[in-house]
Amino acid sequence: MNNFHRLHAACSAYLRRLPLPVPFDLDEFCRRIGAERSRPLVVLPWESAMPAGITGTCMPYGDRDVIYHQPWATGLHRTQIVLHEIAHLVCGHVAHDTLSSQFEMVQPGIHARMFARHDNYGDEQEREAEMLASLMMEHAVTHAARTDDALVARLHAALAPTMRSASRG
Ligand SMILES: [Zn+2]
Repeated sequence: MNNFHRLHAACSAYLRRLPLPVPFDLDEFCRRIGAERSRPLVVLPWESAMPAGITGTCMPYGDRDVIYHQPWATGLHRTQIVLHEIAHLVCGHVAHDTLSSQFEMVQPGIHARMFARHDNYGDEQEREAEMLASLMMEHAVTHAARTDDALVARLHAALAPTMRSASRG
C-alpha cells in the first residue's frame, strides 16, 4: 500500500465515524459535530477579505469553535471550504491553546496570528484534511437534497469515476 492508499484508507475509516446527515445538510452536520464534541460549531462569513491564499479558518474559542469563510464564498464552494476546516477540526489539528481560549471576541492583533497558524499546518495535516474533506464532499454530492440544482448532478457525474477507482482498493 502506498502513502496515498494508506491515507485514503485511514480517512475512509474516519469518514464512517462522522455524523454525516442523509440527505446532506451542512448546517445539520455542524450541529451534530458540535453536539458530539459538546462544543457548538458555528460557521460565519469573515467580515472582510481574508489574506491572499486563505479561504477559511477555524478558531477555537473558550466555549465554541467558529469556522470563518471568505464572505464571497457561496453554495458548493462555501461547503468545500467549511468541510476542509471541519476536517482539520475533527482530525485534531486545531490546537485549543490559551491564546484563543482567552479571547471571547476576536481582537485585531489576533487575526494575523490565527491566520499564520492556519498556514502552519504541516504538509501531512494538510494532506489529511484535503483527503477527508474530499471524501465528505463526495458524501455531500452523492446524498445531496433533491432540491439542489443541476450543478450537483454534474459534480456527481464528475466524481463517479474517482469513487469507482477509490473503491477498487
Ligand atoms: Zn488546511
